[in-house]
Amino acid sequence: MALTRYGELRNELMRRSFPSIFAPVVLRDADSNYVPIPISERLVQCIWYDQRLNSVSLQTTDGRTVRVVFQGWWNLEAGPDFRHATLQIGDEPERTGDVEIHLRAEDWDHHGHEHDRQFNDVILHVVLWEAGSLHTPRTRAGQIIPQLAIQHQLDCPLEQLYDELDIDSYPHNVGNHHGQCAHVLQALHPQSLAALLDTAGEERFGAKVRRFLRWIHRVGPEQAFYEGWMEALGYKANKAAFRALAQRVPVSEINDHRLHLGPILFGVANLLPTGAPATRDAAAAGHVKRLWNAWWKLRPDLEDRILPSDAWRFHGVRPANHPHRRLGAAITLLKKHPRLMEKVVGAVESGGDPATFFSEIRDDYWSYHFTLGGKTQSRASELIGFGRAQEIVVNIVLPFVAAHAQNNGDAKLYEAAKAGYSRLPAAPSNSIVRLAASQLFESAPLTRRSVKTTRQQQGLMQIFHDFCVNDKSGCRHCQFPDLVRRWAAAT
Ligand code: SF4
Repeated sequence: MALTRYGELRNELMRRSFPSIFAPVVLRDADSNYVPIPISERLVQCIWYDQRLNSVSLQTTDGRTVRVVFQGWWNLEAGPDFRHATLQIGDEPERTGDVEIHLRAEDWDHHGHEHDRQFNDVILHVVLWEAGSLHTPRTRAGQIIPQLAIQHQLDCPLEQLYDELDIDSYPHNVGNHHGQCAHVLQALHPQSLAALLDTAGEERFGAKVRRFLRWIHRVGPEQAFYEGWMEALGYKANKAAFRALAQRVPVSEINDHRLHLGPILFGVANLLPTGAPATRDAAAAGHVKRLWNAWWKLRPDLEDRILPSDAWRFHGVRPANHPHRRLGAAITLLKKHPRLMEKVVGAVESGGDPATFFSEIRDDYWSYHFTLGGKTQSRASELIGFGRAQEIVVNIVLPFVAAHAQNNGDAKLYEAAKAGYSRLPAAPSNSIVRLAASQLFESAPLTRRSVKTTRQQQGLMQIFHDFCVNDKSGCRHCQFPDLVRRWAAAT
């Protein structure tokens, strides 16, 4: 009784909240009279991922044949459902691009994809239901996207697929999606595999050091470091905006602006609300008011530096990564550590942990708010979590210090930065590491045995970017298995 009740409630809530992606239906051709199964977009994603389709006769809604060379990587971030698929449609040459999945053709428009630049590279729209599939999806530029309705092109009845596919396990816990290099890597001696990942990790580190060498050459070490960590606070969606802000309010001016850092950075960022915030939260309203009271006096001198309002992306950004909160963290960091660059260089030199400079910051307002004018949270939360601070160390601090040392001919500091990098234990996994691991390794235990340090994680990402990202053949023409064989012969 309780379970039935739960199911009914879940279905009702899901239908109400996500009518376009959750549509429980009754399959009337099932052996039993009525077998209701919840048909969700996720089920269709699993079907596409496993290619449970009649591959020899696949056709778009306008009658062109579809040949799937590679179905793409399951995308767990914002944007299309599958990235980097390789397909041949009709007589056209093979193309590599994204695939978007929906239950119905019109969901493309309902979800606003025709206005979203993230969907510019979609080369196929896959929908379950044939009804309404003559509706034509278009990209932002008005380009028509080929559409595949799979309802009658499945390799077995939908009900059977529903029972066979354990949709909760996708995409990482289904073991049939590894690449062609997996068996070669499996055969490699563990030490040899570890050394291969280490050297690929060194390569990735070297590329980051070279980037900082160029950066330092352009703007000097202080500004390069400041732009680097600001960019990292923008995470994925707002990297460019944070970097632009760091260029418009350069580090050389930070000390002069110390008393007004909040109003200046929020004002130049164009992130101050234009009207009074719609909040009853006194702390939030007071904070915004104080920023405005200072900003309107400073604004005339900084008018020409203000970022355009569309510089920022808010959609799909988690509250903890909201640009307001990230900028609040940046301001807190600048106030607490006026000589941040010197401090992190000193920490690396002495074998200390530079992550703590980023993770150990608190602020009366930002520790309790996600946005300007937002509700006060009952509990304080970290402004920069330890995982993100570690990422900043790996991607910014250590490569910067190595580049700075190289620039100054300081071999000891350079070795200290490299040693710091090799010492770091594996960081919490992210979607790219998981994706790379599922492509390259046949099993989760092999991943755990083989990827024990940050350097090895970075090595895995380097291989993924070098080979998987550039491969357009669904592994067929990839050179990495050959590289592994040569590595095995040489080690
Ligand atoms: S593309 Fe290459 S490196 Fe990537 S999974 Fe396939 S064989 Fe392996």
